[in-house]
Amino acid sequence: MKLFIPGPVSVPSEIMQAMGKEMIGHRGKEFAEIFGECSSGLKKVFQTNNRVLISTSSGTGLMEAAIRNCVNDNVLMVECGAFGKKWIDIAKACGKSVDILHVEPGKAVNKEVLAEKLSQKKYESVCVTHNETSTGVENPIAEIAPLVKESGALLCVDSVSSMGGANIPVDTIGIDVCLTSSQKCFSLPPGLSFASVSEAALEKSKTVKAKGYYFDFVELAKEYDTNQTPYTPAVGLIFGLKTQLATMLTEGMDNVWARHEAMATETQKWALGLGMDLFAEQGHRSKTVTCVSNTNKINLEEVKKKVKAKGYVMDAGYRKLNDELIAKGLADTLRIPHMGNLKVEELKAYLQALTEEMKAQ
Ligand SMILES: *Cc1c(COP(=O)(O)O)cnc(C)c1O
Repeated sequence: MKLFIPGPVSVPSEIMQAMGKEMIGHRGKEFAEIFGECSSGLKKVFQTNNRVLISTSSGTGLMEAAIRNCVNDNVLMVECGAFGKKWIDIAKACGKSVDILHVEPGKAVNKEVLAEKLSQKKYESVCVTHNETSTGVENPIAEIAPLVKESGALLCVDSVSSMGGANIPVDTIGIDVCLTSSQKCFSLPPGLSFASVSEAALEKSKTVKAKGYYFDFVELAKEYDTNQTPYTPAVGLIFGLKTQLATMLTEGMDNVWARHEAMATETQKWALGLGMDLFAEQGHRSKTVTCVSNTNKINLEEVKKKVKAKGYVMDAGYRKLNDELIAKGLADTLRIPHMGNLKVEELKAYLQALTEEMKAQ
């Protein structure tokens, strides 16, 4: 089955093979070498000189880590959809006071509105979703980062569904914590997540009380500097990561980003060509997942069944968003993910299969 859901994505066989290697201990020289290679590869993908921590958890774990290490009390959440809401839920569960800047689903955060919000109160951190997977919106991180910096807050970015697919120059933009998961643009199985952590974020972490144990950036950074992790990592996944980073860097990150852009353009043209609309506003459309308004009122569950028979697992939209849209009498959505090692031709074949089944409805 080819997975066309926004994570996990299908895993290439060479990664599965690499992961099946004989197990090794995580305190030995061999592991340290592999870890070192992974950390230098990740720095290239993240375009950062900061440490890129490797965590054995899904991305949600590192979202919690960002909150626990970078917020003593108050945080501002820029919320544009389901994954922005996740930031809010995590911060509340960690006992932080949360202010919310709500953005309409399908829209990106507006710089002026954020500036106004930041002028009203001083925040320790601002958390933003770079690529809102539920709506297909890409937020203008580079535009808002200077505002956050000027306000004195740390900037924490969830790039779970975009890092490795979209060009996010972490250091140029000035992101303090930028985190992602293995099962989206990295084409790995779920289970690992990565976060770049700035010196400012580490300094902040030293001052935060009751930040828990597993995700303490200070401890993670200390071990990281000796190519180690404080506790047993998912060694098999790290074998896979080494192989995948080599694949990405051999293709060249410029080419990887260009391929994702090309796939996004292809998908947008396809949707418009069938008379459907794009859910995300123009100028802020994701490079890695396209959210399409089902304006033709096609029975998506039927299409899903039909393409399954052709070997594809289709995504029929983010359920909560669709429930809200339907309640308002609006068209529901479907999402076409185009992330990871997917080739343009593979995407085209999938879109062709969708076209055939949609027309048959
Ligand atoms: C998938 C996703 C998450 C959740 O990541 P997990 O690895 O499942 O914990 C968070 N944020 C965004 C934007 C996502 O797409």
